[in-house]
Amino acid sequence: MQILERFYWKKIKVWENIDENQWTNWKWQIANRLVDLSQIESVLKLSQEEKQAFKITGNIFHFGTTPYYVSLINDIADIQNPIRKQIIPAIEEVDENIQGFFSFDPFLEDKMSPVSGLTHRYPDRVLFRATNFCSVYCRHCMRKRMFLEEERARSKQEYETMFSYIRENKSIKEVIISGGDPLTLPNKKLEFILKNLYEIEHIDIIRIGSRELVVNPYRFFDEGLLELFDRYEKIWLITHFNHPDEITDITKKAVKNILSTGTPVLNQTVLLKGINDDEKVIENLMRDLLKVKIKPYYLFFCDPVKGVLHFRTELEKGVQILEYLRGRLSGLGIPVYAVDLDGGLGKVPVFPQYLLDKNENEAVFRNYENKIVKIKL
Ligand SMILES: *Cc1c(COP(=O)(O)O)cnc(C)c1O
Ligand code: SF4
Repeated sequence: MQILERFYWKKIKVWENIDENQWTNWKWQIANRLVDLSQIESVLKLSQEEKQAFKITGNIFHFGTTPYYVSLINDIADIQNPIRKQIIPAIEEVDENIQGFFSFDPFLEDKMSPVSGLTHRYPDRVLFRATNFCSVYCRHCMRKRMFLEEERARSKQEYETMFSYIRENKSIKEVIISGGDPLTLPNKKLEFILKNLYEIEHIDIIRIGSRELVVNPYRFFDEGLLELFDRYEKIWLITHFNHPDEITDITKKAVKNILSTGTPVLNQTVLLKGINDDEKVIENLMRDLLKVKIKPYYLFFCDPVKGVLHFRTELEKGVQILEYLRGRLSGLGIPVYAVDLDGGLGKVPVFPQYLLDKNENEAVFRNYENKIVKIKL
């Protein structure tokens, strides 16, 4: 966990005159995003290759980061920094030898869409894409196809059509509000969505998938948002931390604010080559998540999405990591390793094998230390 000093941003020249009220205001963070090469060069020292990647990918994929997120990078010249690699474009993103065979939408989210903006894959859950705007554009995003589109939130009219579908389908018990990042929406728009979903009796859970806790934690110091979380009690927040460097004392305070509204906070991590594909890094990440009271939920095998494949590890890497964590780390901190299947066939968990053999009378297990244990059945 990073402990940030008071006025930590003032060490960075372009922000030396930014006062605390500005910096800690979530709207200031979004309004002052860095969105082009010259802006990012004012805070990071870019390599020739990175500059070239900017030029090549610039007309294809969006770029953007909040000042807060980029300020967490301690060494501005280190091209291997895990936060830097999540925001700075790489030439591999458009290398046809790597990306050429793959699709922008391997899970058919747009095809399995009964109405625009909804994906209905499992009977009891529906994915609700509220906006295609994000305050940070993660290079590894599984919805990278939205980086090709104009940045916009959906209109009220579109939302109404989405509500109607949910209203008419009583098998739906849970709405997963995602994006883009739904918590970049103003409170009023968010309230409109929440209020409408609340009026649908068969909805038990409203899951909000957002990265604002990682890239703009000041969002959760906004009284208006906290009041919505408090009022709409069905909300669960799912966030997306990938590296321990992303967790700070501000994260901790933000989580405390969220928990005080009765909203549980869980995390999904994507296994990313060169960023967190390491037993120790994941162990530290899970430990730090627990310290700030976030429950690790999923660790995902990197999706086969065009523009993202250079981040993909071996499938076995995630299994090895889980194997390493078991016995070493509190069970509370162990996520489920999962693979999303092509064609929209759903997510499947992949576990290390602990049950080695079984017959009518006994089962043979291997424990976390590789001791073989027989039990009677
Ligand atoms: C991931 C996903 C869900 C949620 O799956 P959980 O296993 O409940 O987290 C639901 N719908 C779609 C389309 C998804 O991609
Ligand atoms: S915040 Fe989420 S939706 Fe937005 S770019 Fe990052 S991973 Fe994709």
